[in-house]
Amino acid sequence: MSNPSFTRAEIEAGRRLFAGDWQFKAAAGSLPALPAMHGIEIAFAGRSNVGKSSLINALTGRRALARTSHTPGRTQELIFFARPPSSLVLVDMPGYGYAAVSKSKVAAWTALIHAFLQGRANLARVYLLVDARHGLKPVDDGVLDTLDKAAASYQIVLTKADEVKAQDLAARVAATRDALAKHPAAYPEVIATSARTGAGMPELRSAIARLLKERGMSAKGANA
Ligand code: GDP
Repeated sequence: MSNPSFTRAEIEAGRRLFAGDWQFKAAAGSLPALPAMHGIEIAFAGRSNVGKSSLINALTGRRALARTSHTPGRTQELIFFARPPSSLVLVDMPGYGYAAVSKSKVAAWTALIHAFLQGRANLARVYLLVDARHGLKPVDDGVLDTLDKAAASYQIVLTKADEVKAQDLAARVAATRDALAKHPAAYPEVIATSARTGAGMPELRSAIARLLKERGMSAKGANA
């Protein structure tokens, strides 16, 4: 995989940042229900079934922290996970693009997400998950627009890379990077991952650790 490269020290910082006992912190289906801003938040978004729950579980080393969904579109809540005393907070955003969801639900989702993205000063980045087998889909466009409009820093993570041959994966990464060129808030690099094999997880953890470092936050409370 042609993932961004990190030094050994950065890989270790990423490992330490995610090691330890991640816990459910809060769930919010509306703006008033959002928990107080605390620490630095990293959010994960993507179409229903993209593999978001599996990715969060793989990142945190917890088998069932985020529940893998058997009913896509089921939850319209933002779910917050924390690992005290670290100040990193992970935010699982509701999946979108499930055909059976009514228009009013889609509108409610968009309104909540837009408000969250615009008002969350401690949100450092959104990772937008895209299935490596399919690449960006028209249904992702609205979300890219929302992220651009909110001027949220975001990066694409390809999921289920184990399902794609190496050369197809390289082409998918290249095509995704090209598509991002017209999105000003998008981080140009793409990270390919597999929750199933663990591929790309050290890089994703290290990318987050690097981001926190850039924001002046040490991996405080990270387990050795
Ligand atoms: P969510 O709806 O985005 O939270 O997606 P889930 O994590 O529930 O995963 C949706 C489906 O994709 C499940 O059947 C998972 O087993 C499968 N899946 C998730 N991650 C991977 C992966 O890395 N590789 C493969 N092959 N399948 C995956």
